[in-house]
Amino acid sequence: MKTAILSIKNLHKRYGKVHAVNNVSLDIHKGNVYGILGPNGSGKSTTLGIVLNVVNKTSGEYSWFGGTQETHQALKKVGAIIERPNFYPYMTAKENLELVCKIKGINYSKIDEKLEIVELTDRKDSKFKTYSLGMKQRLAIASALLNDPEILILDEPTNGLDPQGIIQVRDIIRFIASQGTTILLASHLLDEVEKVCSHVLVLRFGEILYNGKVDEMTSKSNYFELQSDNNNLIIDLLKNNFTVDTISEVDGKIEVYFNQELEASTLNRFLVEKGIYLNHLVKRKLSLENQFLALTNQNNS
Ligand code: ADP
Ligand code: MG
Repeated sequence: MKTAILSIKNLHKRYGKVHAVNNVSLDIHKGNVYGILGPNGSGKSTTLGIVLNVVNKTSGEYSWFGGTQETHQALKKVGAIIERPNFYPYMTAKENLELVCKIKGINYSKIDEKLEIVELTDRKDSKFKTYSLGMKQRLAIASALLNDPEILILDEPTNGLDPQGIIQVRDIIRFIASQGTTILLASHLLDEVEKVCSHVLVLRFGEILYNGKVDEMTSKSNYFELQSDNNNLIIDLLKNNFTVDTISEVDGKIEVYFNQELEASTLNRFLVEKGIYLNHLVKRKLSLENQFLALTNQNNS
């Protein structure tokens, strides 16, 4: 396999008693869009801060581009937005980007190209202070792209934006990815990860709950809908004979999520042997949303 752009191994971060990042490992390969998904406080920003060298790790390893360069050198090939975009309010978008180019030693010719990508060409001569929050975020993306980074890192890229702004930013992220730039984004929004990412790392209390492809996360589910004349009896039987994760009755149908592999035929045979004849049995794929909720609700202890 090709060298990973970023490889994180058994990373830990403790803030006193808070174990903010707990044994996180992740390999990032070229051309994919990775999401770090988790509720607030699950360790997403801390993980990004560590690999961007602004937060000190407690233990573990990470290496950029196969570890052939110093982190400081490697980070020159990384574009990142981990804080609210900050530009000079009385300067125009173009002037702000010129300043960034000057500081980083980048040719000014990149400015128009990147403004085009984030759809701010028409507004490039407007002062930054006149920008909407969505435009500010798009300008920050343009700025992070100026040096043609190999990977773009975004922390909660649509936070605080209005619905139209959210759609624009997501479209831009997808466009950037389609041009071959690898992306790593942190989000507490499942919907966002589902729409934008190919791979996802799900975190809860700093620990990995899932690491893999977004579409395989959905197919690993083991979720059934059942109905008979005696649903209560079924609920008792399932609870006593299988490892049930969650079970509930919705609109007269039992919805059950098992923690074990189970075929519909096996379940049906089991119930027939107990004298129960179903008038409804479906094995369903959980929506990613339900899957995410199931993942983040377990391991509460
Ligand atoms: P997320 O980005 O997923 O919302 P964070 O990485 O910001 O989560 O935070 C993870 C945990 O670490 C939280 O419990 C948070 O309160 C704690 N934390 C983050 N930064 C600090 C800090 N500088 N000092 C103390 N605790 C912190
Ligand atoms: Mg955060």
